[in-house]
Amino acid sequence: MKTKKKSPRSSKANTATAKAKRSARTQAASTEKRGTLTPAYAAQSPTTPLAPFSIQRRDVRPDDVQLEILYCGVCHSDLHMARNEWGQTIYPVVPGHEIVGRVSAVGTKVTKFKTGDLAGVGVMVDSDRECANCRKGLEQYCTGGMVGTYSAHDRRTGEITQGGYSKRIVTHEHFVYRVSDKLPLAGVAPLLCAGITTYSPLRHWKVGKGTKLGVVGLGGLGHMALKFGASFGAEVTMLSTSPDKEKDARRLGANKFALTNDPAQVKSLRNYFDVILDTVSAKHDYNKYLEMVGLDGTMILVGIPPTPPQFEIFTLMGQRRSLASSGIGGVPETQEMLDYCADHDITSDIELINIDYVNNAYVRMLKSDVRYRFVIDMASLT
Ligand code: NAP
Ligand code: ZN
Repeated sequence: MKTKKKSPRSSKANTATAKAKRSARTQAASTEKRGTLTPAYAAQSPTTPLAPFSIQRRDVRPDDVQLEILYCGVCHSDLHMARNEWGQTIYPVVPGHEIVGRVSAVGTKVTKFKTGDLAGVGVMVDSDRECANCRKGLEQYCTGGMVGTYSAHDRRTGEITQGGYSKRIVTHEHFVYRVSDKLPLAGVAPLLCAGITTYSPLRHWKVGKGTKLGVVGLGGLGHMALKFGASFGAEVTMLSTSPDKEKDARRLGANKFALTNDPAQVKSLRNYFDVILDTVSAKHDYNKYLEMVGLDGTMILVGIPPTPPQFEIFTLMGQRRSLASSGIGGVPETQEMLDYCADHDITSDIELINIDYVNNAYVRMLKSDVRYRFVIDMASLT
């Protein structure tokens, strides 16, 4: 059949293609076995608190691994998404993408895992696995679109993905990680997001001996950045708004601590850093931190506040500074990070909570009162 040139009719054709795709997905969804009803916690709207909910987990496909979830970290992204602060949430949403558990079933083609193994799932559960980025192991930048662990569409059935505030998850083995039994498991869970989101940019921008690194915001991501920065041999400064976190910051690996709401301390660090990693979750003044970056230095934004940032070009230009960002990490690097943590005895500092405390955890996270990651003990979900 000849391909028609694009014409006004092409929008009709597109609609027809979209319809065909939708019906193929519906067919795939209905021919797939219905799976298992699984207890979870979900938000039903931006303004309703998380509450008990049931989701359907699919039966394992040939390449799938099923995990009984033991622990799930509480990331600030979960809060942004539960409240639709980024405008992309599909309700009901079961958040959670810092998942560790034990393998309870594997598909017929699975080679990496067997029943009983410890394993983890992070922020993504699929990608096209064929684009140039995927082939480089940078699945998070998949040009065909990576599939988030929750509030995304399954590539095959179009069903909405649901996250780790639940008893069980079923994921393609490519996106399941090996987890060492050497480390306390609850402290490993946050490595799947807070860990890799800080490890990856520090590696990419070659932070190590001789680098002056500034970390902005001492929360889940920030405390992992301190640990990795120190472990890679950098000189690390914590840039925080909370004076009572200084002692912890030094214990976690900071050589220096500066209060960013004290103009004198901010001024003393003008042009000081080679790299700043900004992990702040709320609206703040980026120019203040940019001015602390020295000639040819880089400020990397990993925090994603709901409101768009504002910059002064003069501030960027002043020291030929670069502004950058980074998203989680690809599959090979996530495994590398987990193995690095097992070798160097690195885990997250956590506060273990029952699932019915999760709404309070969100309130405390908004007050910067998290030391330094809430992790849900999934035994509390029945
Ligand atoms: P978190 O635990 O709540 O930590 C955020 C920290 O930011 C707070 O503890 C606080 O530290 C600081 N902060 C909060 N409000 C501030 C303000 N108005 N001005 C200055 N500092 C402020 O959050 P998280 O889980 O680490 O996540 C941080 C951000 O990263 C979120 O936006 C999240 O969505 C994003 N994220 C991005 C990726 C990615 O791939 N790029 C992955 C995961 C998460 P102090 O008390 O020390 O000031
Ligand atoms: Zn996260």
